[in-house]
Amino acid sequence: MNKTLLLSAAMVALAGCGTATHAAGKAKWSYSGDAGPEHWGSLHASYTACSAGKNQSPINLTRFVDSALKPIGFSYKSGGREILNNGHTIQVNYAPGSKIRVDGKSFELKQFHFHAPSENTIEGHSYPLEGHFVHADAKGNLAVVAVMYKVESPLAELDKAWRHMPGRAGEKKTLPIPVHADALMPKRRGYYRFNGSLTTPPCTEGVRWLVLNTYKEISAAQVKAFTKVMHHPNNRPLQPLNARTVLE
Ligand SMILES: [Zn+2]
Repeated sequence: MNKTLLLSAAMVALAGCGTATHAAGKAKWSYSGDAGPEHWGSLHASYTACSAGKNQSPINLTRFVDSALKPIGFSYKSGGREILNNGHTIQVNYAPGSKIRVDGKSFELKQFHFHAPSENTIEGHSYPLEGHFVHADAKGNLAVVAVMYKVESPLAELDKAWRHMPGRAGEKKTLPIPVHADALMPKRRGYYRFNGSLTTPPCTEGVRWLVLNTYKEISAAQVKAFTKVMHHPNNRPLQPLNARTVLE
């Protein structure tokens, strides 16, 4: 057996191993077709919440319950250091040390990513882009701050990331100039709150959703740069509210 053949055999073995890990870990899912949102719950044993869950995201935010929500305590530093295309979204990983305070607890910003069009809707209104700023507390409980973007004027801070947007799934790049999450959010940060889930498999529940009630402006070109790389919409369909209420 020559060297090339040996190498190919090794690569096949590796690929096989990768497939086994894949099957044991998580199943491939997508936003349409046989592995689309209506099938997520049956794609893998760990995805059952996607179909059986009662507190799923996204939702149409409506019938608000006035509850004098305490302001979210934001303390962000510039820390968006790495951008990746995971095939489902464009994600910016954040350096440690940026936090929000909710329910007397501290949640650290881990990453932010985007969906086009928006996943949540507000009183039936969909936005061209929604940002999810994902935070976790020391126990791994998640709090997502969602920001709606409307097409008006360009958002300069976003270009620090967009300029390096990886075109292919699985690609990751370091950002030469870190992105500041503060500059990607509106100044006024009143919000709606509800209990929800991850909007992608495994659709885990127990996520604190904090949807800002003021939108931020971006340009049509910035939305297009994202949708062009995604090739398809990456919003999960709206989920039933069931017994939940949306606080404001
Ligand atoms: Zn998301």
